[in-house]
Amino acid sequence: MAQFQYPCPDCRTTTNLHTPDCRFDGTPWTDIEAAYIDILSTLAQGAKREGRLREESPGRWDRLHSATLSRLRHDQRVRETPGGALELLTPVAFKEQIAVPSQEPLGLIYEEGSVPGCHDHAVFALIAYYEMVGLSWSETREYVTDWLRESGTWNRGGFEEATPEAVVDNKRHVYVRGYGWRQAAEEAAAVIKRRK
Ligand SMILES: [Zn+2]
Repeated sequence: MAQFQYPCPDCRTTTNLHTPDCRFDGTPWTDIEAAYIDILSTLAQGAKREGRLREESPGRWDRLHSATLSRLRHDQRVRETPGGALELLTPVAFKEQIAVPSQEPLGLIYEEGSVPGCHDHAVFALIAYYEMVGLSWSETREYVTDWLRESGTWNRGGFEEATPEAVVDNKRHVYVRGYGWRQAAEEAAAVIKRRK
């Protein structure tokens, strides 16, 4: 099956298999990729307000462009400056920003680390989060194993696996299936808070 570089702005698939309710099922992939390239190439020339972005887009702005811009903002590849302009995060800035999740209760889990009794949920939630924001599997694996070590989680014990890498590899299905992170994060956070 063909794999595409950019996710569908609605259902986030990167193949031809959209979800049944996706607004862009049947939209040619060349159109979807063109919308991404219109936005990214225009913002690559500098931050600008949305009105100017629409005007300067090489392709005519349509609902696919609007949905693509929403996707880029949601995935934190484009952010709004204090002055109200839209700005492209450089790959480095993007990765630095998303490496440290700020949405609660993920922020708590990231900062405090996990404790025995909720490792499953905590690791699940972080992998689901990194998948959602568009990191590759190898980046997700690296970030989560770093977090297991640096947050003190690994040293607290309670894992059956021999290494942090094995812990993450055993949760690869979470990444592949694209589960949401919120429920697992809330269950893990409740355990971490009780331990404090
Ligand atoms: Zn779709």
